[in-house]
Amino acid sequence: MDAVTRLLSDLVAIPSVNPMGRVMSGPGVLEAGMTEYLAGYFQSLGVEYARVPIAPGRSNIMAWYHSNSSDFTVLFDAHQDTVPVDGMIIEPFEPKVEGGKLFGRGSCDIKGGMAAMLLAFARLVKQRPSGSASVVMACTVDEEFTHIGSSKLAETPEIADLAIVAEPTKLDIVDRHKGSIRWKIRANGTACHSSTPQLGDNAIYRMGRILGVLAEHACHLAGSTPDPVLGPPSLSVGRIEGGQSVNVVPDWCEVEIDRRVIPGEQSSDARNWVESDLRQKLGSNDFKSLEFLSPWVDMPPLSGEGRLTSTIIDALKSSIDVATGHQATVIGVPYGTDGGPLSAVGLPTIVFGPGDIAQAHTKDEWVELDQVRLAVEAYYQMVCTLGSLPARTKTPRRT
Ligand SMILES: [Zn+2]
Repeated sequence: MDAVTRLLSDLVAIPSVNPMGRVMSGPGVLEAGMTEYLAGYFQSLGVEYARVPIAPGRSNIMAWYHSNSSDFTVLFDAHQDTVPVDGMIIEPFEPKVEGGKLFGRGSCDIKGGMAAMLLAFARLVKQRPSGSASVVMACTVDEEFTHIGSSKLAETPEIADLAIVAEPTKLDIVDRHKGSIRWKIRANGTACHSSTPQLGDNAIYRMGRILGVLAEHACHLAGSTPDPVLGPPSLSVGRIEGGQSVNVVPDWCEVEIDRRVIPGEQSSDARNWVESDLRQKLGSNDFKSLEFLSPWVDMPPLSGEGRLTSTIIDALKSSIDVATGHQATVIGVPYGTDGGPLSAVGLPTIVFGPGDIAQAHTKDEWVELDQVRLAVEAYYQMVCTLGSLPARTKTPRRT
């Protein structure tokens, strides 16, 4: 078994399931087991490392490789968590290799990418290639739900000159994706016996009127000025809940809204826009009954405009070509990543990794081991090449 298969098997065998807002407990829920394994890995390399507590039982873990011949620092970011295993048709935590693929939860998203980064990091530590950049390796928590790990990391954008975020990109360079903001709107009413509905105020009927306005708003967004790569912003109502029982006029109803923002948009503006639309189009009784709950996800878009220079992109492309023979293209993707919070604070950021997003979160998740092997070479070569670039002026910029 080669180093890639061995390390990736180890990572997949350690459950690190993100409950995604559900009530779940027990071993394998949250990232603690993975963090412990990573601590042991960095300890065995003899490098400086640190746990950064983020929430109860959840810590980012960071490790450092210091170059003695370059001022340029690369941040490697790979998240520790995976989505849950509901509906999987393979054993999620018993990694199996078949036909050059490794199967298991997280193999594609993103333990394959994490294994590649760890192996490139270990090789840098052992070989200390002259002229290479320095590396901060950050393994974050909660990428799959609310990004609290990368948001913490984004509080110190001065730690690096370029962030490389591991996600399955088929070894292409992603420099752009949408952000998202998710929140609930609650409509209130007055409960009473359903045999005398005229005495109550039905919150579900009220929500029906609200949904009409939200659907119109979504339609309007679909026709608004698009991002040249990512298309227009969007709004979708994904869940609805309300009422106590069929014989009670409901006094509450809630919907969950997913608003995707494009580069140049502020999520707070997007949310305010929905609110002002409802204020204008609803009767005042309806509007007064509404509560706009605080967002539980507020992830900025990834956009490298003005900061990801052509020098950096050229260095990355040539590194990938030299290391793997793959002619990487620069693309935008529909999904969100840890790169959003990092780029929002002015840190030049790209997303790059092995595997195809089509296999992420699936019932038989897998990654091609050859892709992971190529990613090790690419990450290593990137750090070697980027070492010759000047460090940026590290003034954090909030957008
Ligand atoms: Zn991921």
